[in-house]
Amino acid sequence: MPSGSSAPRALYIHVPFCVRRCSYCDFAVQATREAPTAVWLDAVVGEMRLVSQERGWTAPLALDTVYVGGGTPSLLDVGAMAELRHRLTPYAEWDDAAEWTCEANPESFTAATAADWRAAGVNRISLGAQTFHEPALRWMGRMHGVEGPRRAMDAAREAGFGNVSVDLIFGLPRRLERDWGADLHHALTLEPEHVSLYGLTAEAAAPLGRWVLEGRETLADEDRYADEYLLAHTHLTAAGFRHYEVSNFGLPGRQSRHNGVYWTGAPYAALGPGAHAFYPPLRRWNVRSWDAYRDSVAAGRLPVDDEETVDEETRALERAWLGLRTDTGYSLADARDAELRLATLWRAHGWAHPDDSTLRLTAEGWLLLDRLAVDLAAAAEGGAALAV
Ligand code: SF4
Repeated sequence: MPSGSSAPRALYIHVPFCVRRCSYCDFAVQATREAPTAVWLDAVVGEMRLVSQERGWTAPLALDTVYVGGGTPSLLDVGAMAELRHRLTPYAEWDDAAEWTCEANPESFTAATAADWRAAGVNRISLGAQTFHEPALRWMGRMHGVEGPRRAMDAAREAGFGNVSVDLIFGLPRRLERDWGADLHHALTLEPEHVSLYGLTAEAAAPLGRWVLEGRETLADEDRYADEYLLAHTHLTAAGFRHYEVSNFGLPGRQSRHNGVYWTGAPYAALGPGAHAFYPPLRRWNVRSWDAYRDSVAAGRLPVDDEETVDEETRALERAWLGLRTDTGYSLADARDAELRLATLWRAHGWAHPDDSTLRLTAEGWLLLDRLAVDLAAAAEGGAALAV
């Protein structure tokens, strides 16, 4: 058996194909009308074999969660998920109690795809809706129309999926006149079990990054970004969702178990171009180019781009950051005085809930997460950061 607590119980698999690149996207994707499913399967299974050999896993990993993300997994041929599971079996196994998520885009998540995935054992769908505002969809370069998510949700329910997450993007340029409140309302009419939010940013490698750099586009200012984030918190929690992580909301019992692995610092394996794996204390990531990835695996070489060993200082910052980003919070049981002073200050500002033994951020606090995590890590290391 893969030995002890260090063997990953979570696996991410990247599908690097999209019909075209969305304006805001800097992910490792390649534009193509048809995904080369057979070649992709050979490549990710081949990588799994190489990783297993390298890590010394002499028996299949016993997985709790599997996440097939992208890119656009729903572009793959019918039968791809069953084949994936079957061919990974010598290296990784999971049963129906595992959470198996696949990401889908509305235009390619058909009734046939939904039924095929469900039959293969997929039990959770993450649906990229993003907005229900037609001009904003066009601006994003999305392939679906306003009615796409409804059709996809109907297909998911018809196939028997009882756990569907909807992705939404907030903080769009003002000139698009997208009504965020109306979009939240529209998303709730789909009756999802989970909602994930993405605040729009201009990543350098995305078309939007170039537009902003050239002065052709302007992002939402800080105030509107904050207003929209807080409106989502109010709207979704009023509808019964638990705001359990800075960007995620779930109905009771419907939090993402896979993402929970990332937020607790547990090990996870990862396959595919650009995928990041964590074998504590080693963190490493694959080459982003599909061609380079495929050729590397075919030549029997791990497609690793680079890696780092997480040192004590980084670990302290990650402990603070990971602790603060979920509503489980950061334990103050063994806190230093500097940490306790910080907790008192944040509570006075309304950035943290008034618990005694844990430090749990409010939605207002989550808006400041990165800055607060740096301050907390400094306090935990013995510093006295009390930034306001
Ligand atoms: S569908 Fe998703 S992964 Fe593909 S280009 Fe758009 S945002 Fe990026």
